Amino acid sequence: MLFSFELSTKNRNALVDITSTVKHFVEKSGVVSGVCIVYVPHTTAGVTINENADPSVKFDIENTLSKIVPPDLNYSHAEGNSDSHVKSTLVSPSISLIIDNGKLLLGTWQGIYFCEFDGPRRRKVYVKIMKD
Ligand code: ZN
Repeated sequence: MLFSFELSTKNRNALVDITSTVKHFVEKSGVVSGVCIVYVPHTTAGVTINENADPSVKFDIENTLSKIVPPDLNYSHAEGNSDSHVKSTLVSPSISLIIDNGKLLLGTWQGIYFCEFDGPRRRKVYVKIMKD
């Protein structure tokens, strides 16, 4: 089954917790055992799994990525968003999750984040759910 949803980001860089939406689609699918792929069809965004208990982790990820990939290097791409493209590749545009007993096999502290690297924008997220 294929689901999708849209979200709006408010800043140039942002990690948006989409865990509850993805869990909702897993429940709706009725799949008890299988795989869930979360995919973003964008070249300046990504998706990742990390801690969603302490909000400072999200801040540290955004901040560290911006230090590793600064916006003002001598990039060739004339659009002015090369740092956004590089971050998208570093983070990846998709993740795979395991569905077991009708639920995502996420660790206690894990959440799913949509990663904005060139906002604010309207973005799309696909969620593909497959049975064993
Ligand atoms: Zn570009």
